[in-house]
Amino acid sequence: MLSISVKEILFWKKTQLSKGGDHESLALLLDSVGGISTSDLNSLSINPEENLYLKKNLEFLESVWEDHLLNSSPIQYLCGITFWRDLKLKVTNKVLIPRSETELIVDIVFKIFGKTSQKLCFAELGTGSGAISIALALAYPLSEGVATDIDHNALEIANKNYINSSKQTNLKFFCGNWWSPLESFKGKLDLAISNPPYIPTDTYEKLPKEVKNFEPKIALLGGEDGLIHIREIIEKAPLFLKENGWLILENHYDQGEKVKQLFTKNEFTSVKILNDLSGVGRFTIGRYK
Ligand code: GLN
Repeated sequence: MLSISVKEILFWKKTQLSKGGDHESLALLLDSVGGISTSDLNSLSINPEENLYLKKNLEFLESVWEDHLLNSSPIQYLCGITFWRDLKLKVTNKVLIPRSETELIVDIVFKIFGKTSQKLCFAELGTGSGAISIALALAYPLSEGVATDIDHNALEIANKNYINSSKQTNLKFFCGNWWSPLESFKGKLDLAISNPPYIPTDTYEKLPKEVKNFEPKIALLGGEDGLIHIREIIEKAPLFLKENGWLILENHYDQGEKVKQLFTKNEFTSVKILNDLSGVGRFTIGRYK
């Protein structure tokens, strides 16, 4: 541990930000690698001579920051951590970095089912870092949740994140493609959720390099029209949902209407497109009969 004054850290922060990047990314680096949280720093900023303890020296933190700026490496991968809702999640380049817009899926579930002690049976398809299912398993401790992913490396990370976030045992992980590991859940689910890969091939090629060069292609690419996985998930959902069970999907900014049609074609009712915080029709939800 290295002792450093508040004044020195604030000066260091200013110097780093003058090279580029944003406050939030630098705060993640300082917190997850340096061990100094923004709230510690803020509460001490009236006392600039006060000392704090750093887990890594400033030269090391600076080298990580420069890697982030020069190579467009996502700061979350460099730090191995991201914050999502109230969770602190481990992330590597085997999983998509959970996005802030995806946080709203959990609020949609709260709106549909309430925040009470419901005993839901839910499944998340393509869990990646586990963010959505872990948040749901914690919010509904009496529920039984299952989360799938085709990549066992991703599942290992999701499982670690679950163990680190909770002492509960109401979430299980299964490896396999979409619904295939869930044969024993046929007709049993109150709720299925997925943020599947939905980027169309052409769009993928034009993604910013911090996404395209670092995040797993398998977690982003949704085939020519971006909808191949969404189609498969919707078409098979009726086999797994209970009567009146809900399906909640995230989609690309312009796919809402097409996804809505797919829900309707597969006999879903109460189908709705819901906006994210930027007003984009980011989620499509429906109820199986
Ligand atoms: N929302 C992510 C992005 O914009 C894509 C996530 C996904 O394909 N499911 O990069």
